[in-house]
Amino acid sequence: MITRHFGIPVTSPGAILRRERDLGTPLGQETAEVLRSGGLVSDKIIIELIEDWLRLHGGHGFVFDGFPRTLPQAESLMSMLTKLRTALDLVIWLEASEKTVRDRITGRLQCGECGFTTSSSSAQFANRPVCPYCDGRLERRNDDDLGVLQTRLQEFRTKTEPLGAFYKKVSVLHRIDGNRDRDAVFSEISRLIEDKTPK
Ligand code: AMP
Repeated sequence: MITRHFGIPVTSPGAILRRERDLGTPLGQETAEVLRSGGLVSDKIIIELIEDWLRLHGGHGFVFDGFPRTLPQAESLMSMLTKLRTALDLVIWLEASEKTVRDRITGRLQCGECGFTTSSSSAQFANRPVCPYCDGRLERRNDDDLGVLQTRLQEFRTKTEPLGAFYKKVSVLHRIDGNRDRDAVFSEISRLIEDKTPK
């Protein structure tokens, strides 16, 4: 939604790694089991992915989805931005209850081609799971499983939650109630982005 509305490129290590897995590349094969089991991929691999992505696309504004997820990743991001002479404008922390997360992953459908995400409860896609943007197949993710969710939540609590304090110190953190519907959440995020956009 951010890319379509604001034209800002968005990248996500999770999406890159799923694509590598589907293509059967060495990186995809090396990380597939960690993704399936809900663990976090090593900081070294993730940081290299982001550095490569920034070399190709960085410089004119970007959004990272699902990065950083650990303190070493957050510290590396700061060094990358310093080298690019780019400020970190916003850190958006989407807060969602365990029930919300459970409900969302149970119904999540994702396009294998472009990453468009929707829900199987959306009448439009229930019978014809085809992406409205690129005609790719809408599929369930193999880590969207209630058993795997416990590992993902545990990884979040131990490795990602401490980032709240890290970003509070640099005063760029905005906590948003992610339990609301997609339009309400997107309009709050849009306001934050608009406030940061030069007029
Ligand atoms: P996501 O698509 O953001 O839900 O990520 C899916 C999976 O990719 C995660 O459960 C991790 O296995 C891996 N992953 C994505 N982003 C990161 C990250 N920043 N650090 C470590 N592993 C990640």
